[in-house]
Amino acid sequence: MQMSQCIWTSHEMLGPFRFGPSIQRNFSKSIRRSAGDSRSRATSYPSFMAAISTGSTQHAAVSTEDDSTTKTHQPLQVAKRLEKFKTTIFTQMSMLAIKHGAINLGQGFPNFDGPEFVKEAAIQAIKDGKNQYARGYGVPDLNSAVASRFKKDTGLEVDPEKEVTVTSGCTEAIAATMLGLINNSDEVILFAPFYDSYEATLSMAGAKIKCITLRPPDFSVPIDELKSAISKNTRAILINTPHNPTGKMFTREELNVIASLCIENDVLVFTDEVYDKLSFEMDHISMASLPGMYERTVTMNSLGKTFSLTGWKIGWAIAPPHLTWGLRQAHSFLTFATCTPMQYAAAAALRAPESYYEELKRDYGAKKAILVEGLKAVGFKVFPSSGTYFVVVDHTPFGLKDDIAFCEYLIKEIGVVAIPTSVFYLNPEDGKNLVRFTFCKDEGTLRSAVKRMKEKLLLRN
Ligand code: GLN
Repeated sequence: MQMSQCIWTSHEMLGPFRFGPSIQRNFSKSIRRSAGDSRSRATSYPSFMAAISTGSTQHAAVSTEDDSTTKTHQPLQVAKRLEKFKTTIFTQMSMLAIKHGAINLGQGFPNFDGPEFVKEAAIQAIKDGKNQYARGYGVPDLNSAVASRFKKDTGLEVDPEKEVTVTSGCTEAIAATMLGLINNSDEVILFAPFYDSYEATLSMAGAKIKCITLRPPDFSVPIDELKSAISKNTRAILINTPHNPTGKMFTREELNVIASLCIENDVLVFTDEVYDKLSFEMDHISMASLPGMYERTVTMNSLGKTFSLTGWKIGWAIAPPHLTWGLRQAHSFLTFATCTPMQYAAAAALRAPESYYEELKRDYGAKKAILVEGLKAVGFKVFPSSGTYFVVVDHTPFGLKDDIAFCEYLIKEIGVVAIPTSVFYLNPEDGKNLVRFTFCKDEGTLRSAVKRMKEKLLLRN
């Protein structure tokens, strides 16, 4: 396979990093002043950025000469609904990987390319003049390819015209679902650790978040806590299976309990299934396929992970017409339509023979074995990961105070990037012992990262 080029350049860095330390301090202070009930998260995250940036000012990673001559240093401005959020952890960690020349096992993007036949289909579509606005909810060819794939995967027959909406990545499907179906003050239940965009889009929708923590070693759903979290104001439960960052897959028993609670209390389910084709230890189960659930479920997925094309940002949401209406309304005014030629290529991708999916899983199985065995040999406590291309470990044998200190040490002293997980919790304390590694990298890269850790990471406890 061909290696992808490095996708990040230092001028892409966003947020407080773009400014000098004094601006950053003021920014952190103003965040603390206005953080309100989100104080604990808001105060811990900037301290990570401060810690990382203070130690590295001599690298001047983001400021260019232009910055000092043409930029006036003004306080950052952001609407209240977004002020507690920082530059995403994935962006931060990928920037730091470049700055320190570290091997990036942080942000989940493959360092190898997607399949030739899909790339060829995109080139062909461009040459064929498929270059103007697409139909808002998707080019017919892609809507039907999504519906056929869903039928193969779940047995459910959906109307491609009325129940499939093509979006700009699953991230947009998530935003459109929240903004199109959630009212101010509706309660939405999340399972922590959770992917960062859930909280941000819920905040944009004005929702009230209730959070249930999944705990190691198996990250199973605490059913009693879930039961007591549901109230008459609960509008939806958001699930993500296979689950980022833990690799947990929701079991049929867990899904059954969640389903019956939703039916009993008239609650919707929003389900992010972007890692469905990376399920290793058990079969993926779509919530929509459970009896009585299709009519109350929005299923979201994308092309990126399955076809190693995370930069294409092609996603979709499948939902019955009465739920599709709301999310399509939001989609219409967020992006209106998604990149036309890539939609034709995505349709070609989804028609790949089953052997494509089998090979993908085989390749990732080999990568996973290298990383998991390697991390165990280094001395980490590795938690079982059934799906996704992530694995979560307990870093405490190495004696660092928390996940952020550990990741900082790992980047600067060992030359490997991981993702601290505390940023995926409402209460960061819950994630302070855990860090996430990805194995969506070529085998040589994974072996080099393991080698660096074996040579330099010393057990202290
Ligand atoms: N989904 C990717 C991950 O978890 C990150 C995507 C992003 O950077 N927004 O690593």
